[in-house]
Amino acid sequence: MRKIKAGVLIIIFLTAVCIFSGCAETEEAAEYIEPTLASEILIDEPAQDEIMQEEPAVQAIAFIEETEEKTIGTTEKIEETTRADTTTVPATEPPVLTEPPEPKPAAAPVIIPAKPPRDNGEKWIALTFDDGPGRYTQQILDLLEYHGGKATFFVLGAYVWNQRQIIRNMIEQGSEAAGHSWHHYNLTELEEQEIKDQITYTDNAILHVTGVPPPKFFRPPFGAYDDAVKDAAREVGSAIIMWNIDSRDWRHRNADYIYDYIMERAENGAIILCHDIHETTAEAMERIIPELIEQGYKLVTVSELLGETTPGLLYYSEHRIVS
Ligand code: ZN
Repeated sequence: MRKIKAGVLIIIFLTAVCIFSGCAETEEAAEYIEPTLASEILIDEPAQDEIMQEEPAVQAIAFIEETEEKTIGTTEKIEETTRADTTTVPATEPPVLTEPPEPKPAAAPVIIPAKPPRDNGEKWIALTFDDGPGRYTQQILDLLEYHGGKATFFVLGAYVWNQRQIIRNMIEQGSEAAGHSWHHYNLTELEEQEIKDQITYTDNAILHVTGVPPPKFFRPPFGAYDDAVKDAAREVGSAIIMWNIDSRDWRHRNADYIYDYIMERAENGAIILCHDIHETTAEAMERIIPELIEQGYKLVTVSELLGETTPGLLYYSEHRIVS
């Protein structure tokens, strides 16, 4: 009995050894075949005189692989950059502008729009919004779009790049973006060259993000000007846009107050000063915009209201122009 058991064990052992060695043989065969196939593709045991012809092909393959690696590397880099920049600035675009950039020559000749023909008795008003683009700018743009009006936004150069999409939306909506200086400094306290820089850098920034030359006018911060500001404006070819109705929305953060104040004073040819950085102003516009239109006013841009402007002159309304 014990002999039979031992015999069975020996048979099992031998079978296992046989199977194992067979597998090993197959594996060896596979290992052997693979390099043969590979060499058939690449070189196929070349004769000595053929090696010189084969080598470039091998090198070319190596080069392609390397190129692919590089391409993959670049793609990953782009993806990484895109991911990282979703909240900031895409790498393909210039960096955030925190200081005025170097002045650039105008990319395109400035075309001053001719004053559009206006029917007798048609009432025009220019709503203007300073200090943005801000949190409520898009809301005001949506109101203008919905009711069929336009406005002029006097923007700060320092905000233009980071708020570039809103600036583009302004142009697309039919409104316009003009400069309100780069830093919102009181320009009467600056040297003449600094005043010019505040105007031209902001204009260049608007041109840069929209591709459209901004209007040839600006609004000085606080409405502050003196002879030096007027001289600088004239030299850079910009008119100075003031206002004849000041909503005082920055002081009275009350939509009812702003609404009453503007509706009581609205008149043909007026330029109305507001700020698109206050919630109460946007709230007041929900009633002001449709009601002005209902009263027969056409809400136009400053460019449309004034037509061609003269550099260095002060425009308070369509009818009040001061040198
Ligand atoms: Zn301002």
